[in-house]
Amino acid sequence: MNRIAEVVSCLDGYDPNALRVDKAREAIRACLAPVAGVERVATRSALGRVLDQQIVPAFDVPAHDNSAMDGYAVRAADLGAEGETRLEEIGAALAGRPYKGKVGRGECVRVMTGAVMPAGTDTVVIQEVVRVEGDAIVVPAGQKRGQNTRAAGEDLKRGVAVLHPGRALAPADLGLIASLGIGEVSVRRRLRVAFFSTGDELASIGAPLAEGQVYDSNRYTLYGMLSRLGVEILDLGVVRDDPALLEAAFASAAANADAIVTSGGVSVGEADFTKQMMARLGEVLFWRIAMRPGRPMAFGRIGKAALFGLPGNPVAVMVTFYQFVRDALLHLAGRTDNYTLPLLKVPAAAPLRKVPGRTEYQRGVLFRDGGEWKVRTTGQQGSGVLRSMSEANCFIVLEHERGRVEAGEPVQVQLFDGLT
Ligand code: AMP
Ligand code: MG
Repeated sequence: MNRIAEVVSCLDGYDPNALRVDKAREAIRACLAPVAGVERVATRSALGRVLDQQIVPAFDVPAHDNSAMDGYAVRAADLGAEGETRLEEIGAALAGRPYKGKVGRGECVRVMTGAVMPAGTDTVVIQEVVRVEGDAIVVPAGQKRGQNTRAAGEDLKRGVAVLHPGRALAPADLGLIASLGIGEVSVRRRLRVAFFSTGDELASIGAPLAEGQVYDSNRYTLYGMLSRLGVEILDLGVVRDDPALLEAAFASAAANADAIVTSGGVSVGEADFTKQMMARLGEVLFWRIAMRPGRPMAFGRIGKAALFGLPGNPVAVMVTFYQFVRDALLHLAGRTDNYTLPLLKVPAAAPLRKVPGRTEYQRGVLFRDGGEWKVRTTGQQGSGVLRSMSEANCFIVLEHERGRVEAGEPVQVQLFDGLT
């Protein structure tokens, strides 16, 4: 028995012919180890990359207590609990231009937002409530000690790690790293993913369509999905159903990539050579997953590369990619932060057909109905109807055990796009 088969056979309730979605995910995880390999990149180039170091502030951010508002820096102890207090204005401090002297009893300093709090002061009174009388100001009662100031280190504390290895760097992280004056960081090397389409019926763009042929669209959706994951991609084109060509494609993919994604030719009872070649060249399992769309799928390894043999139907490719391959590739890429896609609950606008015993990923449109968000399907749900993915803005995830859904019942949705 090969290693992959050994690992998955140890999983509770593993059944390759009726594999539950969560089991398939678990099996994939159990067989994959993240790539090693690190490089140093400039902070800006690190966007989306997987951090491979801790970011530990060498100083506090902000470095000094400073004013959060435009106004006057005062000593809280000078202020009367009741009635007005008159203070002498002895200077000014701007952001980047501190006041050099010390502030004594009965004195204050004009401050702008971001100005370092002058020595001796602890409180800022906003300019709107102050009455100016020549070189003095009059402060009303009711000010609170420390108000309108920002403490040194309230954003980042010296010595306390803020970013950890395994995190994909987001725009805020780049800013945070920059706020520490760090110009270069260590990140994992980019994952390399090779992909190709299989099937004799496929024509490439540029060639005329012969009778019975379809243009290869899977390579375009895969290109889009892989590009967004931030991996390096290796497009090996359409591979005819010919043993020599398939073998060459798998060999080239395995030699040059960390993972291989193919589409087509993995159905049970499939007559073409794709499955045979996968089985011959690597350790590969052929699954029937209890899901819709996307039932057949191959998973395993060829050489050192992880293999994902996705079904051929255009919607099934996208669903299996998002539900299995995305998770697997992020794991391989070294991510250890939480990248599970959130599931939100919203009411179904209309009844949904569903039979228990499989997880369904219906293509949905999340829309606002008056004040409330609801979800409806895009209509036709055939796994060849790619338009359904294009029109959708979410998956309606109907759980394994669930049956028919009535209008108004809450369902889980997984959004396609977020604030990234
Ligand atoms: P298969 O999984 O190979 O049996 O393919 C299932 C269906 O998906 C068939 O109708 C194929 O023609 C279609 N299909 C397979 N590969 C592609 C592709 N790359 N682009 C568009 N349709 C495809
Ligand atoms: Mg086929």
